[in-house]
Amino acid sequence: MLMENMTVLQALEKYYGYKSFRPLQQEAIQSVLGGKDTLLILPTGGGKSVCYQLPPIVQNGLCLVVSPLISLMKDQVNALTQNGIPAAFINSSLSASENNDLLKKAMQKQLKLLYVSPEKLVNDMAVFAGLPLSLVAIDEAHCVSQWGHDFRPEYTQLKVIKEQFPGVPVMALTATADKVTRRDIATQLGMHEPEILVGSFNRQNLSLEVRANLPARERYTQIANMINKYRNDSGIIYCLSRKTTEQLAEKLAGFGIEAGVYHAGLSHEKRNSVQDDFINDRLKVICATIAFGMGIDKSNVRYVIHYNLPKNIEGYYQEIGRAGRDGLPSETRLYYNYGDLRILTTFASEGALAEINLEKLKRMHQYAEADVCRRKILLSYFGEVLEKDCGNCDVCKNPRRHFDGTVVVQKALSAMKRMNEEVGMQMLIDVLRGSRKAEVTEKGYQNVKTFGAGSQHSFFEWQHYINQMLNLGLVEIAYDENFSLKITQSGNEVLFGKKTQQLVVFDAEKEKFNKTDKPKTKKEKREEGLFEALKKKRQELAAAKGVPAYTVFNDATLTEMAEKTPLFVEDLAEISGIGEFKQKEYGSIFVQTIRDFLLHNEVGKVKNLSYFQTFEAYQKGLTAQEIAKERGLNKGTVYGHLAWLIDHSENIEVSNYLSKTDLEDIIKAVKHLESAEYLNGIKEYLNDRLEYGLIKLGVAYLKKKGKLRF
Ligand code: ADP
Ligand code: ZN
Repeated sequence: MLMENMTVLQALEKYYGYKSFRPLQQEAIQSVLGGKDTLLILPTGGGKSVCYQLPPIVQNGLCLVVSPLISLMKDQVNALTQNGIPAAFINSSLSASENNDLLKKAMQKQLKLLYVSPEKLVNDMAVFAGLPLSLVAIDEAHCVSQWGHDFRPEYTQLKVIKEQFPGVPVMALTATADKVTRRDIATQLGMHEPEILVGSFNRQNLSLEVRANLPARERYTQIANMINKYRNDSGIIYCLSRKTTEQLAEKLAGFGIEAGVYHAGLSHEKRNSVQDDFINDRLKVICATIAFGMGIDKSNVRYVIHYNLPKNIEGYYQEIGRAGRDGLPSETRLYYNYGDLRILTTFASEGALAEINLEKLKRMHQYAEADVCRRKILLSYFGEVLEKDCGNCDVCKNPRRHFDGTVVVQKALSAMKRMNEEVGMQMLIDVLRGSRKAEVTEKGYQNVKTFGAGSQHSFFEWQHYINQMLNLGLVEIAYDENFSLKITQSGNEVLFGKKTQQLVVFDAEKEKFNKTDKPKTKKEKREEGLFEALKKKRQELAAAKGVPAYTVFNDATLTEMAEKTPLFVEDLAEISGIGEFKQKEYGSIFVQTIRDFLLHNEVGKVKNLSYFQTFEAYQKGLTAQEIAKERGLNKGTVYGHLAWLIDHSENIEVSNYLSKTDLEDIIKAVKHLESAEYLNGIKEYLNDRLEYGLIKLGVAYLKKKGKLRF
């Protein structure tokens, strides 16, 4: 059933329904087809899987895929099977005889892809050595490197692959961005003069945003708003601690939002069920520690929120990368405050890698505090240069406004000095604002000369300025002296008037909890309504098959369907993500869903819809006259519509409109005229006995029945 004489592009279209390759996919495929070991580095969502899945298809070969997680294997095999590509996985969850059957199938070239865990491969090398392999793919290849963020000892033995199958090219795939790890992968796997392909890490469809130092209440409201904005879609909220995931889920429940909790402290079963509910869209929101997400390929995650600052940029980038794999616009938002920084600093200071960890944390912090395009910073961290500002981060969208903050800074510094640099941020602000709290008066700080000198600014405004002073290096926090603030050299220069200081304007806008949406145009309403109807259908089909919904069609495909409203199965060909197999399997079901939706909702003008409105009336058994009346058309138009429907392969019975004699007469007329194109000629030949619309209908019908030669 699998053709060998296809180009890779044809195979991409046939099996996946994609019209073109994404960057580096073709290069990677050609490289292994040319027999070269290949290291492919693409970000999450970059489309790595296709790169090892296509070669065995066009090569009439078998690809062995080493993959670290059973959940990932299952997902991939599901997705492949649904695209009509024979694939299977071998692991400990199967019985010995099941495994043997699969191996037999692989021997007989009835499989294109065989997934296996690294342990299994290494332990049973002899079994696999007999397979007719054309490629070995090593997914999540960073696991082989001690330098990587997810080192797995089982992976280190994979060197035997090159020893056992010297003639078979190896493709190692990873989304790791870190250069040391990349180099190490090739060495660890014993790759031979590998072709190394590194893609861009820019994922322009992910918006980037940071919100700093907001009180918890404010954060809850904003997060609830984000969830409601995407109430039919999935999202992940990453928290620093197990406790926070639980607290946050509880707070969200107060907004009427059901959020799942996922962390390493839960039982194995509980974690599996939460993950399963998320993958299958039964649970839309998860509050998780970073333990969540590794085994998930879910393509329709629309937002990722970090409730706390991540430890480093690698982790952050990987976590936000779980949004928008399908390429549709998706939002990411990072919240952080000094509390996070304190905890993370403590963590990072422990252990042998303290120096590196602290440095990485510092970079993360700088990113969060940046007032230039965030994507530029992110990409430069991975060694990539973005020429232009991205336009899709909070800094680009809302450029920072500055003012001369010298006086503000001087007030704060002078207050600090007068309190012997012994106080923390809270006390400093209280004194600047002239608070008569017990804590203040106990120390006699109400007598400090600058007491109340900043009373015109709110607490949050001061917090905003002092945070900037920290980031600008005018003050620093003495973690070992009760977090008191100290003035730096640079701070002294401002205090003594040696230099001025610009600050970013404080933006006091507060977000309110907001359940209502902004008004929508008719087209937007139609597209949204249809998208939901399509998702519902997808869910039904997926549940019946026991596969995750997004593996039936991903959101990008459904969105395109909702936009283009294909009314015939053939029209689906122009939509991305529908290969031949899925078109056969699901095409008519989705087309019917689209027709039904358009016919039974207020949808405005849609191309060709009028024909189907006539069709529906016809199916109710109405006469042409009645249809015309109901639809406010003339009878001729109704006949024309029916003719069009026949031309488009719909079943229309014409005996209600045309007698046997009428049809025979039309055949005669056409014979005489030697063409069925001259409807007027036919009409004349029949002495105007039949009206134009009826002749059109008769011709369409006779053509379809093969009774006219033309
Ligand atoms: P990765 O493994 O790199 O994270 P995937 O292989 O899961 O990425 O691909 C991400 C998404 O992009 C999937 O939904 C996949 O089907 C889709 N995709 C892959 N290649 C293409 C392509 N050439 N055109 C359109 N979509 C693609
Ligand atoms: Zn930007």
